[in-house]
Amino acid sequence: MGDQRSVTGRTSQVLRDYRLKPKKSLGQNFLTDSRVLDKMVRAADIDKETGVLEVGPGIGSLTERLANVAGKVVAVEIDKRLIPILENTFASYDHVQIVCGDILALDVPKVLKEHLSSCKRTTVVANLPYYITSAVIMKLLELNWSFYRLVLMMQKEVAERVLAKPGSKDYGVLSVAVQYYATPEKVARVPAHVFVPRPHVDSAVLSLTPHKTSPAFVANRELFFVVVKSSFKERRKTLANNLNAHLFTDWNKSQVNEWLNRVGIDPRRRAETLSLAEFARISNALSDSCL
Ligand code: SAM
Repeated sequence: MGDQRSVTGRTSQVLRDYRLKPKKSLGQNFLTDSRVLDKMVRAADIDKETGVLEVGPGIGSLTERLANVAGKVVAVEIDKRLIPILENTFASYDHVQIVCGDILALDVPKVLKEHLSSCKRTTVVANLPYYITSAVIMKLLELNWSFYRLVLMMQKEVAERVLAKPGSKDYGVLSVAVQYYATPEKVARVPAHVFVPRPHVDSAVLSLTPHKTSPAFVANRELFFVVVKSSFKERRKTLANNLNAHLFTDWNKSQVNEWLNRVGIDPRRRAETLSLAEFARISNALSDSCL
């Protein structure tokens, strides 16, 4: 599977041999560009002491490259039809385990302990199914598991939201949530035509490196996310109006304005202008006043 033509060829051949029709409902767009596959593996900085979790191995093109460099690989695939293909492909690889399951329903720490506990560090590498991209990213970041890095392919627009900084139109809940846990960096832009079947959108690969220490002190994480979500509920509204409508529902407008002024945040600002540290300041003040 070394060069470009062999990845494309193998993908079509496997789909033909097994009479497989990719399922759109499972986001099955198989990556056929060997340069992108190699870039993902390089960005993950994998060595023989690394255990890799792959989400959605498909027919195993990325899995094979991961297996060549990692100490161990555990790949979680929801589609039962793909399991025999993966098991055949990796029959001679003792360090590759295929798990059939839904990544969103699975007890991921249990799977990691079972298959990767002998590895020094854990890295996630995945070409994520589009329909659950944000949910998978947030599930993995919120786990009590210190990942070394996550290298993830996603729809280009989602990648732009993850990377967005305050003041940009893409900045929102997903930007704040991911950046609270990790530093995102762009690895590659990936055009739609390198997938089989070809999706309607372009993609991008991001690497997320979890923070060793959080970029802002947050006293109550749950409350922090409630504040962030409430603040962005209606993008055209000011921060005060959103918080009044969705969080401080028992207060009147001037109470909300006064409280935000006391916290040092101009109530006329919009959520998209607030930094992570400013959201933390609001939620910490709220947490103090709840005590
Ligand atoms: N890794 C392969 C590649 O790069 O060509 C396939 C990537 S394809 C975009 C996404 C894969 O995720 C598919 O194989 C799909 O069946 C699988 N998948 C979809 N939903 C899933 C879920 N909830 N849990 C685990 N795998 C899932």
